[in-house]
Amino acid sequence: MASSANPFSLSLSSELASNTSLHCANSSEVFLRFPNSPAPPSLRSSFVSPIKIELNRVGVSALKVSRIGSRISASSTPVMDQSPSQTSPRVPTVVEVDLGNRSYPIYIGSGLLQQPELLQRHVHGKRALVVTNTTIAALYLDKVVDALTRGNPNISVESVILPDGEKYKNMDTLMKVFDKAIESRLDRRCTFVAVGGGVIGDMCGFAAAAFLRGVNFIQIPTTVMAQVDSSVGGKTGINHPLGKNLIGAFYQPQCVLIDTDTLNTLPERELASGFAEVIKYGLIRDAEFFEWQEKNMQALMARDPGALAYAIKRSCENKAEVVSLDEKESGLRATLNLGHTFGHAIETGVGYGQWLHGEAVAAGMVMAVDMSYRLGWIDDSIVKRVHNIIKQAKLPITPPESMTVEMFKSVMAVDKKVADGLLRLILLKGPLGNCVFTGDYDRKALDDTLRAFAKS
Ligand code: NAD
Repeated sequence: MASSANPFSLSLSSELASNTSLHCANSSEVFLRFPNSPAPPSLRSSFVSPIKIELNRVGVSALKVSRIGSRISASSTPVMDQSPSQTSPRVPTVVEVDLGNRSYPIYIGSGLLQQPELLQRHVHGKRALVVTNTTIAALYLDKVVDALTRGNPNISVESVILPDGEKYKNMDTLMKVFDKAIESRLDRRCTFVAVGGGVIGDMCGFAAAAFLRGVNFIQIPTTVMAQVDSSVGGKTGINHPLGKNLIGAFYQPQCVLIDTDTLNTLPERELASGFAEVIKYGLIRDAEFFEWQEKNMQALMARDPGALAYAIKRSCENKAEVVSLDEKESGLRATLNLGHTFGHAIETGVGYGQWLHGEAVAAGMVMAVDMSYRLGWIDDSIVKRVHNIIKQAKLPITPPESMTVEMFKSVMAVDKKVADGLLRLILLKGPLGNCVFTGDYDRKALDDTLRAFAKS
């Protein structure tokens, strides 16, 4: 089904393939149409170079329900219905990330750190290393150690407490994790436990991937950013002075445990930063979720527990579906990076930690949306709605004034989505909830967007 000239190949199970028809819309694009699936086609791949992948959530739901085998589906098992108006503490919702023998559950709920059995069933061996930072250790280390050890006298827990901040997401800090693991004589049967935001999760995951060539690992994310995005999907890594997340590995955890109570201590700016990724899911693949956010952003900002639980669950479902379809980012998964190429340039340009990741992504999404509009791919109502929701979340809609066009260009040149010297971007195209990952765009639109948002 895929051209050998193309780096992206979409493989379908025979069951799926037999139920799928192929439509050639023109010489450069092929649409996969699933019987009974709503138009426009939900999963579309072009077989020209550069690649272009398009997906929305409606289509994946159709796949999940009727035709895709468990190998590439993600499913959520609501133990209870967590709609905004109905939440009950301590009963986790479980979202499954379906990756064959590397599948794992995401537990979402209030008070989950008081349920040791949830965590302990995923600890392999008798030794655990908790990786956290100075801020989170003061708040949650005791609770996590208790959850790991209560009723379980055989387990011993070490901890390593790293300095707090994006600027420490580097090789020196990573070595502190290895130092502790080696000094403690941990062996291959140990489990690393990440307790913190995306910085800790990314570093702990990378350490787990590399220590003794791979040990078990568990994610306990404590920021919105980490709960809706970074803890799910197995992307781990550290920054390089020349670019963000350039050194890392795909490495999946045993489970993700999201205790929504941890968000009660999260500073306001960090809370808002996480909502950038929530908004992203709506824009790239889930228009219904975006509409829900437009009605509920005030509740989210006010930390309404029901609204938060719903947004986390829906975000995890979106992420799990994409990761299950494209774990190693052959194409589809890249769509999760809407605004990130511009955002990473901001983070690198102003210095790690100056702008929060979500703040940079928010401004980056506005730039990607601006470029999509300049290309004539979306109408201006989407541009206005994106501005509105980002402002409601108290996130920036422009990059910092210090950013120049040249700064953007130099960082974007080393972006992971550059292939054969060509920068591929995630851009919106069509109705709300649809996007493309493509290098096939008019360069002038990119230049015009950069000039509109940054000084020369
Ligand atoms: P972060 O990890 O720096 O955490 C933000 C701040 O909040 C830190 O100071 C932290 O100590 C503090 N904190 C965390 N939990 C807290 C709590 N419950 N109460 C009080 N304070 C708390 O930042 P982040 O936004 O969570 O993550 C950003 C990082 O995630 C970036 O490095 C980004 O590259 C990465 N990321 C990775 C992925 C992925 O797929 N792996 C996806 C998105 C983002």
